[in-house]
Amino acid sequence: MRGTRVSLDSGVHESRRAIISRVKAPCELCDGSAGNVLYEDDLARIVLVDDVEHPGFCRVILNRHVAETTDLSPDDRRHLMDIVFATEKAVRDIVAPDKMNVASLGNVVPHVHWHVIPRRKEDAHFPNPIWGARVREASPAPIPPNLPGKLRAAIALELCD
Ligand SMILES: [Zn+2]
Repeated sequence: MRGTRVSLDSGVHESRRAIISRVKAPCELCDGSAGNVLYEDDLARIVLVDDVEHPGFCRVILNRHVAETTDLSPDDRRHLMDIVFATEKAVRDIVAPDKMNVASLGNVVPHVHWHVIPRRKEDAHFPNPIWGARVREASPAPIPPNLPGKLRAAIALELCD
């Protein structure tokens, strides 16, 4: 079987080993929690990202390797978005940002995850996305005391009633 070649839709030929290695490529969102877990249920988890420039930056990460939100059942989509918006509400209440950014990209890690990012007008990138060009030297971001505990409690209030 060594050297078996498989024809892909594009007409490009790729060895079976290369295909297997690509399909089984390690996924950082499958292989670890990817942050301080604030909430978890069967569908997804909310983690606090360790980001000193954007304290309160959370990610909502699906607990299985699926690339697109529209691959989920309608019930799972609704529940996922309930979790995303509960995260946004909790971060707003605790961090009191100037603006919230909520985004799902997945171009680098094609595993459904939503970024929930509190933004300050003084942060280094504002008004650009945090992945865009820096436009200033950022002043240190204020970090609310016991941020993980406060977010955990606020998220529980949103999701557990
Ligand atoms: Zn994954």
